Amino acid sequence: MRVLLIGPPGAGKGTQAVRLAAHLSIQHISTGDLFREHIDQGTELGQNAHTHIRAGLLAPDEVTIGVIKERLARPDTECGFLLDGFPRNLAQAQALDGILADSKSRLDAVLDLEIPEAQVVRRIAGRRLCRQDREHIFHVDYSPAEVAGACDVCGGELYQRDDDRETTVRKRLEVIAARRRRSSTTTKLRAW
Ligand code: AMP
Repeated sequence: MRVLLIGPPGAGKGTQAVRLAAHLSIQHISTGDLFREHIDQGTELGQNAHTHIRAGLLAPDEVTIGVIKERLARPDTECGFLLDGFPRNLAQAQALDGILADSKSRLDAVLDLEIPEAQVVRRIAGRRLCRQDREHIFHVDYSPAEVAGACDVCGGELYQRDDDRETTVRKRLEVIAARRRRSSTTTKLRAW
């Protein structure tokens, strides 16, 4: 099964993606996680992406599309995948169309998560991730760890993503709002 999960930051894509991918026994592919892996490994691509991510901006399309093409070419996606955070604009959606056409496959479902904008900042700014496994996600108010600062699952250190800080979250929301205003249609995909 091939599934897309779209929605604004803070809507819960990461949390739902982990559950859904496990339920469907398919690969969870998050462009944000792929970038963070590159950043941790100190690759050139990671350094380029980090400049944009830290500033609350989208990474350049050609970089993002390259990363996703490479990931979808790996054999573990043959039985299906759940894309989380890609595509985020029309150019990326068109690139995905091309990738699917080349592999003679198609999407089975697109899920669009919605969240009132007023809740976004609080949800993202309170998010904490485990350094050992970023799929272990906590929230200081809504889903706190039993021992502050330590992952309930594996004991790993919990940290806040650079781009989850309140000022960066507000910048990310501004970027989305600006894209929406610029968009000539009301297609939601153009805004995420
Ligand atoms: P996420 O983990 O999905 O919130 O993504 C974290 C950051 O990675 C985003 O704020 C963007 O800077 C970058 N990013 C993730 N996915 C994309 C994408 N499809 N296009 C461009 N930048 C992306």
